[in-house]
Amino acid sequence: MVIVGGGIEGCAAAWALAERGVTDVVIVERATVGSGGTGKSSGVVRCHYGVSSLAAMANAALDVFENAAEILGADVGFHQTGYVVGVGEQNLDALRASLANQRAVGVRTEEIGHAEVRRHWPTAYLDDFAAFAWEPRGGYGDAYQTAQAFAAAARRAGVRLRQGSTVTEIVAENGRATGARLADGSTIPAGAVVVAAGPWSVPLLAAHGIDLPITVHREQIVLVDPGVDLGPVPVFSDLVSLQYVRPEASGEILFGNSDLAELEPADPDRYSNQASEAFLDLAVEKVGTRFPGLENASVSSTYAGCYDVTPDFNPVISPTPVDGLVVAAGFSGHGFKISPSVGRLVADLVVDGTSSDPHVPDSDFRLSRFAEGALLRSPHPYVGAGEMR
Ligand SMILES: Cc1cc2nc3c(=O)[nH]c(=O)nc-3n(C[C@H](O)[C@H](O)[C@H](O)COP(=O)(O)OP(=O)(O)OC[C@H]3O[C@@H](n4cnc5c(N)ncnc54)[C@H](O)[C@@H]3O)c2cc1C
Repeated sequence: MVIVGGGIEGCAAAWALAERGVTDVVIVERATVGSGGTGKSSGVVRCHYGVSSLAAMANAALDVFENAAEILGADVGFHQTGYVVGVGEQNLDALRASLANQRAVGVRTEEIGHAEVRRHWPTAYLDDFAAFAWEPRGGYGDAYQTAQAFAAAARRAGVRLRQGSTVTEIVAENGRATGARLADGSTIPAGAVVVAAGPWSVPLLAAHGIDLPITVHREQIVLVDPGVDLGPVPVFSDLVSLQYVRPEASGEILFGNSDLAELEPADPDRYSNQASEAFLDLAVEKVGTRFPGLENASVSSTYAGCYDVTPDFNPVISPTPVDGLVVAAGFSGHGFKISPSVGRLVADLVVDGTSSDPHVPDSDFRLSRFAEGALLRSPHPYVGAGEMR
């Protein structure tokens, strides 16, 4: 079979297929492994989802991140710093309901008080938070390193990787996928094709009349030198001023914006890889207000990446109207933390046609949900931060 795209999801799928004994697989990647959105990921790892299947996927993924040396044969750069999320008064009930949902699928998470958060992040201003949740198993990883590890593990099992090869067309006959045509005119015959090409999946499916509703948006990241030694701080998701910060091993902190109300449309092949002046002002204001203790903080560097966003901010991991053609795309800015489970679900769909994990019904991620108007949304959405959670 052929997997189109050597991002973290395509490589995870190859690894999971190999785990199930399916090794007659070729990953076709137009550039190099991890060169798409994967290489730009902030790598935040948490199970804090109101959608139970996503919480379960993130929870199952932790076992792989924690035991990567044993399972994948390589360190994947996972830092288990813990994860704290704080909400304001209007989201207190949603937070508690979400925590109950998460625990029901096995997530280790609990509500903690201001004093405990202050111990974790002594430089933070916390008075405008109503409540916090804590995940001791959360933290951050390195999506690029993890994608390489999935690819290497798959290759050791016999999977082939073709980098520098672009798929121009999914070949189908009589309504069934039969292979992939490459830019050099050759065709790789296959009994099944998985399209995991991020935002570039859209035209490959459109050629078969399949509408994959993905739009592309630029997301900017700022690295901050805190000016002091912060010590071992956890990842902090601030759902009051809508930002997330996480430590870097270098002692810097990585700042990302969580305000997704207004997105910046982008071309994933041509976008500015630096934060704008306006975004820098926003970062300075948000970090400065939340962490008044960091008096000598300064901006170290910036970059940007693209999110492939679906109408409900959740991925499509699904069969399509073309038999043997499976899509795994539209991860909407949160596909790293669930990637091992995405790989397993893709392998399940290819081999059995259905999910093997009762906590992860494949129907949640079906492509047809958009046409049906049955979007995958949290039953306990956060006011002002309803996306991705
Ligand atoms: C700035 C930023 C921050 C993020 N932070 C987080 C986070 O903190 N936590 C989290 O969980 N997630 C995060 N994400 C999201 C996560 O990184 C992505 O969801 C994930 O990496 C997507 O992987 P992918 O394999 O679907 O796509 P990609 O990595 O884009 O891979 C698709 C691959 O397909 C290849 N390709 C495209 N077209 C073709 C073709 N025709 N033929 C062959 N190959 C092709 C591309 O070259 C590319 O390598 C973040 C993303 C960004 C951009």
